[in-house]
Amino acid sequence: MSVPFSQIFGQKNAIDWLLRAYSTGRLPHGLIFAGPTGVGKATVAAAMGKLFLCHDPEGNKPCNKCESCQIFEAGNHPDFHVITRELIRYHDKTGKSKGIDLSIQVIRPELIEPAARKPNLNHGKVFVVEQAETMNPPAQNALLKTLEEPAALTLIILLTDQLGALLPTIRSRCQTVTFAALDVALVRDELHKRGIESALAEDASRLARGSLGVALNWLHDGVITWSRELIAQMDQILAGSPPDDLPGWLKRAADDYADKQLERDELASRDQLTREGMVLYFTLAADYLRDRLKSIESPDELENTCRLIDQLAQAESYLESNVNVALVLQNLAASMTPEAREISK
Ligand SMILES: [Zn+2]
Repeated sequence: MSVPFSQIFGQKNAIDWLLRAYSTGRLPHGLIFAGPTGVGKATVAAAMGKLFLCHDPEGNKPCNKCESCQIFEAGNHPDFHVITRELIRYHDKTGKSKGIDLSIQVIRPELIEPAARKPNLNHGKVFVVEQAETMNPPAQNALLKTLEEPAALTLIILLTDQLGALLPTIRSRCQTVTFAALDVALVRDELHKRGIESALAEDASRLARGSLGVALNWLHDGVITWSRELIAQMDQILAGSPPDDLPGWLKRAADDYADKQLERDELASRDQLTREGMVLYFTLAADYLRDRLKSIESPDELENTCRLIDQLAQAESYLESNVNVALVLQNLAASMTPEAREISK
């Protein structure tokens, strides 16, 4: 299944550029789609893939009639390869790889080898690498030759939200297409159009900072509802009366986040997802406080808000360096009591 270019939301510049390159026969073999998560990179890559593989395109549109278009819509086109780091589970039966990096064990059998073979339908091949920034250096280096001398009619699209994590040698062999964050008001209106009630659409578009995909996921996963409570608790802390059980609350919020992600991918690691959930709520709290800084006038309140942002950043860095979750939360809560605030002054 794919969404036609004309129905893709908010990425006119990127699409115009791609279609111009395509129609003038100057589409590079290697493309990098760079931009925030959830703004349409994968959707555009699929639309591009369908067009590229179509046997009988009508100008800039796939015909929707040929064998390729029909198989594409059925969702199992043998020449359209989507590569994710989760594929490691099929290539490493020992289960030792955690799938945090996108390794050569995945890139070789899923991309490098099939790229060198004849296409199944005899009409080109498309490879889309999701979260390309997670390719470790050996995987990126292994890909260089394929990018340098691709077989005829091969299109490789790397999707990333961290362009800087790709090696300069990869970047120089690809054309980068930039995907901008969407306008918050546009995302809000689109959510509203999809039946989300106004206040929720407003909060979701603001918290997801111009990403429709992220906003939809967070609405589905309950992140927006949890975030509203989180923001209320940040206000309470700044008013000098911290909530009774912030660690317990954060633990419940992060557990719920992990549950929702496990529904999508039951083989993922619960511990890793819980940490991810906690980092997400720390980030959302810090984002909220940073926005709030803009309208604060009292020096005391300014100082308190900055301190709270620092404490959240500290907790996040402990989590990322694998400190025990319970300990991180206890520390955070302890640093937020009025007594601790007096001492640190
Ligand atoms: Zn077609």
